Order: sequence, then structure tokens, then C-alpha cells
Amino acid sequence: MQSALWPDIDYHQAGTATARARLEALELIEQHGWYELYRKKEDGSYWRLDRDEKYQERFIVRIAEPATWQTFDTTELEKQLLLNQRGGLGTERCIAAGCKSTVLQRSAFCLNHTYERGVRT
Ligand SMILES: [Zn+2]
Repeated sequence: MQSALWPDIDYHQAGTATARARLEALELIEQHGWYELYRKKEDGSYWRLDRDEKYQERFIVRIAEPATWQTFDTTELEKQLLLNQRGGLGTERCIAAGCKSTVLQRSAFCLNHTYERGVRT
């Protein structure tokens, strides 16, 4: 089930009304490494949250297959979120050597090269 409060991936900005509303709807199931696994009380869906890291963007991600929650690769989802967050593509060419892709809005690089540089928002 998808709603405004529950996209498949989103940023988790601690202290915001959105983050609080989500956490209230979830119960912590398990912790492992940098991740926490939660279950949504209302419908039993699973959600993975990055643990609190001072200099890192945190994501909350829907986990369709709970068995793989620790290894689920969110790279493509994070790129899509970054693209949406930036409002799409600009008009120039990416400045990375040899790259012919169009830049991301407010970036000198395309989506892939922006992401490679560690940018997440
Ligand atoms: Zn590029």
C-alpha cells in the first residue's frame, strides 16, 4: 500500500512530523549493523531504517522480502529519490570525463556521477 506518508523510499529526517508519524506507526523488530528493521502495526509491512549516523543521510525503505532485509540494495531507489528531490534533469552535459549524460538539476554532474560522489539529496 502506497500513500504520501509511505513511499517505497524516503529520507528520514529525525524530529520532523513525518518522521515521528512514521515511527509511531512502526514497531522495532530487529537491529543489524547500520540498519533497523521495523514492522508497520497497521498492515504488517516491513520497513528498514538507517541507524542514526551524524554525517549520513538516513533512508526509510519498504522491504518487500523480510528475509533479505539486511542486504536489500537500495542504490536505484536512492538515485530515483535524488532525481525527484532535485526536480529532474538540467540542460547541460555532465562534466565527468567521457560522460555524455545530461546533468541533474543543481549539479554539474549527471545522476550517476552525482550519486557516485556521495551526494544523496
Ligand atoms: Zn556523468
